[in-house]
This record gives sequence, C-alpha cells and structure tokens, in this order.
Amino acid sequence: RRIRYAVVGLGHLALEEILPALSICKKSKLTALVSGSPDKMKKVAAQYGIKTENCYSYQTYDQLKSNKEVDVIYIVLPNALHKEYVIRGAKAGKHILCEKPMAISSRECEEMIEACNAAKVKLMIAYRIQYQPHNRKVRELVQNKTFGAVKYIEASNSQGSANPAHWRHKKALAGGGSLPDIGLYCLNTNRFILGEEPTEVFAYQYSTPGNPLFAEVEELISWQMKFPSGVIASSSSDYNVHESRHYRVLCEKGWLNMDKAYAYKGQKLQTAHAEGKMEKQEEIGIAETNQFAAEMDHFSDCTINNKRPFTPGEEGLKDHLLMEAIYESAREGKPVKIIRNAGQGTHG
Ligand code: NAD
Repeated sequence: RRIRYAVVGLGHLALEEILPALSICKKSKLTALVSGSPDKMKKVAAQYGIKTENCYSYQTYDQLKSNKEVDVIYIVLPNALHKEYVIRGAKAGKHILCEKPMAISSRECEEMIEACNAAKVKLMIAYRIQYQPHNRKVRELVQNKTFGAVKYIEASNSQGSANPAHWRHKKALAGGGSLPDIGLYCLNTNRFILGEEPTEVFAYQYSTPGNPLFAEVEELISWQMKFPSGVIASSSSDYNVHESRHYRVLCEKGWLNMDKAYAYKGQKLQTAHAEGKMEKQEEIGIAETNQFAAEMDHFSDCTINNKRPFTPGEEGLKDHLLMEAIYESAREGKPVKIIRNAGQGTHG
C-alpha cells in the first residue's frame, strides 16, 4: 500500500526535490496539489498525472477533508505559514508532514502539536538529515563510541543569498535569518548525532551594515552549545559566503569529518584514528539515497503501522526553544541556560 500525499506550495523545494522524490518512493505517492498559481499547478498536474479535481487553491484547501485519495498533507510553504496550514490540515483529518523550520516561534510549535493531538493525526517535521545514511552512520559510530568519547563538534552550514525581496529576508515570513533556515541543520544534527540535549548556549551574530539582504534578518550567527556529557559543539551559519556545509567530530581516539553534510547529495564521510605511531585516515563509502524519498517513506511507514515518527513535532519545538535561547544570548551578550520541561528529553 502506498500512502497518498497532497503537497502544499509549489516553490523551489517542492518542484525540484519533493515531487521528483515522490515518484521514486516505495511507500508514498503524489495524489493532490495545493497552490496559489493556477497556471503553474495545471502544468505540474499534467506532468505528474494529477486529476483536476485533486488540485486545490489556498481558499479551497480545507475541502481536502472530503478527499478520500489523500492520507498525508506535506506543507512546503514559507515558514510563517506553516502553523496555519498544519492546523487547517489537521482539522481536515489528514496526517501532516511539515517542512523545517517548524514555525517561527516555540509558541506556534506548541499550538501545532496541540492541534494534531486534538485531531488524532500524526505530525512529523521534515528533518531529512536524520534519514540520510552518512549522517545516520556518524550517529551510530558516535553512540557506539567507536573512536572513544566525543569531546568537541565543529559545524557550519553557510551559503550566499542574492535577493532581498525573497521571503527568506523578511522577518515576518521567515522568523529569522540564516539560523532558522540553515543553521538549524547544525543545531539539529548535533543533537541527533549525540543523542543528548544542550544545557547552555552562547552566541554572537553579525550583519553587514547597509546590506539590504540583512535589513530584517541576521547574516552570520555563531553559537556554542554545552551538553551534559561535557561535549561542546560550536556551530555557525552565514548567508553571505561561498557555500560550505560540513562538520567535524573530535573524539578521544579519532575524528569524523563530513563534507557536504547538510547538502541534498554528495556527502563525504572521512575518519582518522591512530594505528601504532601512524594515523590511519579512511573514507567510509556508503551508497547515496534520495533523502526526501527516505524521509517520506518513513512517515508513510509510520502512518501504515501507526508508529510515532522519528522526528515528531516535539523535535521541532525543541529546536525552536534552542534558537530562541541562541538569539537571546546574542542579544544579551551572555550564556543562556536551557530550562527543560519534563517531556522534553532527547529522542531516539
Ligand atoms: P520558495 O520561495 O521557493 O517557495 C515557497 C512557495 O510558497 C512558493 O510557491 C510561493 O508561491 C508560495 N507562497 C504561498 N504564500 C506565500 C507568501 N505569502 N509569500 C511567499 N510565498 C508564498 O521556498 P522554498 O525554498 O521552496 O521553501 C519552502 C519551505 O521549505 C520553507 O519552509 C523552507 O525552509 C523549506 N525548505 C526546506 C529544505 C530542506 O532541505 N528540507 C530546503 C529548502 C526549503
């Protein structure tokens, strides 16, 4: 059985990654579209063989409730619209897969989780890295202490940006700048790899004065996180540099280095450890898979077998609480302790 998806928002990510990935999924398929551009939707529907009656506008979106050919709604809209479309989708009785960042505040995340619980539908955040084999391998090597205990992680997810008119540069639509968009990958992947939650953060941020790209949102943010085991993770994201997406995990007896760590493809995992007096460096070769297909098939499997997703809404909420602490630290110029409620332990 294949779970049937309605994709909401036909922007870059949906058109270039998600719709093609749905075509190669084993447990998921595309059956409906939601868009504000009728002409674009007509073309996309023709390309993917979607029936006219399964094409919706943002105004007719709630009518998905009576569509028996849709099981899951996948929200691929600008960040500030996630909350509204997740809640309306849950009220339509559909399971929800929501793009990252989950929303634009932790308060919104709480409302989204409550709405999905009340409607008895599943909610998963599209943290594709956690379904990507190289990153999963790092988690396994770290948690098995293959190279001894981790001491330090250095991570950066950075790129250039050119269009100040794009919603990513508008605070009201994006919620923030490079942090929620790309820095989030460092934050979330560090938590995923280590399997523990930070207790304190300390951050700096910088935006080039007068650059219209950064009139509303930050350019560079750099932050440290302290974990209970003693690990310190240092991360950064920048919107104004040549693309660089990597991390390095320093362990007692070796290191792991991942190039293109947060990219759609091209991950390169290298390790080093001592062998006698020599250092042995090797590349761990792992077959590439489509991360988006793996992520959607995971969610489909959860809906078929009534399982909790590996990255539920609570994971998105934890990241938003941490991002709020990171901004607070940068603003106040001092470390911020993370106060955690009972239900907010680490996952997995
Ligand atoms: P995009 O700008 O290319 O597409 C956004 C779509 O939303 C467009 O089709 C646009 O028409 C539509 N839209 C509806 N209402 C809008 C409004 N009020 N203002 C602007 N656009 C509106 O963006 P994208 O890169 O496809 O990002 C969409 C979501 O996916 C974001 O939440 C983003 O963070 C996330 N994303 C995730 C990944 C990933 O690797 N998981 C990669 C890129 C983007």
